[in-house]
Amino acid sequence: MKVLVADDDAGSRMVAKAAVEQSGHECIVAADGNAAWELYQSHRPHVVVTDLVMPGLDGLDLCRAIRSAEQDSYTYLVLVTSKGSREDVVAGMQAGADDYVTKPLDPFTLHTRLLVALRVTTLHADLAHYRAALSEQARTDPLTKLYNRLKLTEDLERLHSSSARYGHDYSLAICDVDNFKSYNDIYGHQAGDAALQAVATSLARQGRQSDGVYRFGGEEFLLVLPGQSASGAEAMLERALAAVQGLGIAHAGNPSGVLTLSAGISSYTAEHRVSNDRILNEADVALYTAKAAGRNRVELAAEIRQMVHGR
Ligand code: GH3
Ligand code: MG
Ligand code: MG
Repeated sequence: MKVLVADDDAGSRMVAKAAVEQSGHECIVAADGNAAWELYQSHRPHVVVTDLVMPGLDGLDLCRAIRSAEQDSYTYLVLVTSKGSREDVVAGMQAGADDYVTKPLDPFTLHTRLLVALRVTTLHADLAHYRAALSEQARTDPLTKLYNRLKLTEDLERLHSSSARYGHDYSLAICDVDNFKSYNDIYGHQAGDAALQAVATSLARQGRQSDGVYRFGGEEFLLVLPGQSASGAEAMLERALAAVQGLGIAHAGNPSGVLTLSAGISSYTAEHRVSNDRILNEADVALYTAKAAGRNRVELAAEIRQMVHGR
């Protein structure tokens, strides 16, 4: 572990540093509360052993500052009290300290506190790890490994508000596999799953680094294209559809003989500043227009087509 010792008394600092290093941990030291706070921010130590009374930030201030700055990590805080008064100890615990030792500092006592600190910080690190893994899992579609609708909702909210604030464009495209029910009927559900995985991989390879590809529903995929105009999105989707068709996944129930997609696009532009829900809805309506017009094609939302193509 990395341990920060904060004490304005050079003798106490030396005793603490020696005890920390004797216990097999790395030690950094600060001679006052302000220096300790600086070191905390730049080093993010696992443990802070802090004197209660120091010039600048005192031990209580330091505990409070650390607790409010923590995000996913946990710092084990040990307060060193010289007075040993019960009020000081209680105030220290209320300020966020996990434990306390009294002066003069006994190396053996500090060693035992560091054993507890290791257990507690390891537990917190495990929790943070599982929390991150669960959060990722909750946003990932298990079949295609694409992000799911929950993640889409979050990402789209964020993109929409930043686009609204800075006046940037973005486009949304909904892609749907053509005659996929018949694909399952002919080739079986497992082959259907494999086809969805192949489509997902192909779509994820298209576009730019900042583009997002999500599994929107069963055989529907959503592409979020930040900074992309409607005509740019249209060109990108033409390429994406051609790439999926180019996979050559045999589909006897589809007119072209291979698996194809249809796509509907709408865009948030200077002339079309509407809500993200509305953009999504327009893209969905455009998808149905593409289906009705014979499938295996890209359609721009009526609201956007007029501006891009003048018809
Ligand atoms: P259209 O061209 O109009 O989109 O016709 P379609 O047959 O593709 O559309 P429909 O909505 O009637 O059928 C979608 C099918 O997608 C039905 C459903 O069983 C299948 N599907 C949805 N999710 C999955 C999945 O995870 N795996 C498999 N194998 N099939 C799925
Ligand atoms: Mg379909
Ligand atoms: Mg569908």
